[in-house]
Amino acid sequence: MSGGAPDRPDFDVAIVGGGPVGAVLGALLKRGQGGARRRVLLIERQLPATAPAAAPDDLRVVALSRASERVLGAAGAWAALRAVPGALGRYERMHVWPADGEPRGPGSLRFDAAEIGEPDLGHIVGNARVQRAALDAFIEAGGVAEAATLSALEFDAGSVSLLADGRRRRASLVVGADGGRSLVRRAAGLELETQDYQQAGVVANLHSERPHEHTAWQRFLGEGTLALLPLADGTSSLVWSAPRARAEALLAASPEDFEAEVTAASGGVLGALRLASGRAAFPLRRVRAPHYARERCVLVGDAAHIVHPLAGQGLNLGLMDAAALAEVLEDASAEGEDPGALRVLRRYERWRKGENETMGRAFDLLNRFLAFGTDPVGQLATRGMGLVGRSAPLRGFFAGRALGLGGELPRAARRAGA
Ligand SMILES: Cc1cc2nc3c(=O)[nH]c(=O)nc-3n(C[C@H](O)[C@H](O)[C@H](O)COP(=O)(O)OP(=O)(O)OC[C@H]3O[C@@H](n4cnc5c(N)ncnc54)[C@H](O)[C@@H]3O)c2cc1C
Repeated sequence: MSGGAPDRPDFDVAIVGGGPVGAVLGALLKRGQGGARRRVLLIERQLPATAPAAAPDDLRVVALSRASERVLGAAGAWAALRAVPGALGRYERMHVWPADGEPRGPGSLRFDAAEIGEPDLGHIVGNARVQRAALDAFIEAGGVAEAATLSALEFDAGSVSLLADGRRRRASLVVGADGGRSLVRRAAGLELETQDYQQAGVVANLHSERPHEHTAWQRFLGEGTLALLPLADGTSSLVWSAPRARAEALLAASPEDFEAEVTAASGGVLGALRLASGRAAFPLRRVRAPHYARERCVLVGDAAHIVHPLAGQGLNLGLMDAAALAEVLEDASAEGEDPGALRVLRRYERWRKGENETMGRAFDLLNRFLAFGTDPVGQLATRGMGLVGRSAPLRGFFAGRALGLGGELPRAARRAGA
């Protein structure tokens, strides 16, 4: 990518953070056009040592859209995920209902993959599995992955230096894929806007009395939302977004009391629920960086934006960032452009920021008016849900959105069967 000058940086691209987004970006950069020549470094402070093929308590579970499935295919990670027995749970339907309605009553909403001629709406998988599969694909394609913690960045005209564990590495471009507390973002002087929801997401895996029917169940509670995502082993992954004090009480409750609470809050849709794992909670906030790029530095994934998890889209948005940035860098490299030049990085920023902000605002409104919707606007929104439920074309529209195939997609997300 860069020329053969004597002070050529050690790497074309240095990615900080080997979470799923950073690892997928690395794999796409190495496997894409010109990837064999592209020198890509990835540093991760907690590099997982082995493939967590049987990770029992991967409580951070994500719903991957069709678009994400394709990006993971292009990155060389999807085949590995498919090869691990029980790693991927598919969901064929989504079923949503309000606090004051019956799970299958008239106010409920059901999206079915069959209605739009698809085999499923997406897959449910542990975050750590996606990370490991993408890291393996990156390393297999010749990427350099190192266990190290970034401590500082130094920018100069032609390169950026990364200081990590006493070593200095120079690159033409540094990518911040280092999550919500991104040091890259701070060291690059990129601003951040944060909104604390004063909520936490309580997660656990649950056995259910009745089968989950490969359906993602979601109830708007009037005081948060409760989602049950179908896992391949027949259990369901719980994501319960609740006010912080309530979430703390749920974590502190005895297993029996917790099971009774979650069964009641789910409206008994799957019968009695029992814990199949430990419990954990994640604080929920909305984060947005007003700028994703400066000369020689760019942000992807949670480092650039964090959205409310009620629609399960955070990683899907991050994977689209990774695919869009890989495409912009690949095209720039084909034109002989400097990958760290701001004019190149702005193309990526213009592409992704609008989409990420639109989605962040939409989930914010859903949280405000449906999840906590007891006021008149909330009641109106709930009635709107019932209307959508009665209209086949509207249901088809929303099911299509769940596949993530709307908007301006990167090439990697447009190609089926990678
Ligand atoms: C309760 C909950 C449920 C969710 N459900 C869904 C869902 O259903 N679907 C979905 O799409 N998304 C979901 N999300 C969001 C999703 O988990 C995140 O968007 C995704 O994990 C972000 O990936 P990332 O790679 O950008 O960041 P991270 O996964 O945070 O990775 C960042 C990496 O950077 C490393 N790092 C940080 N600092 C340094 C440093 N200084 N030096 C070296 N390495 C560093 C960290 O160790 C980490 O591995 C959910 C989130 C929550 C909280």
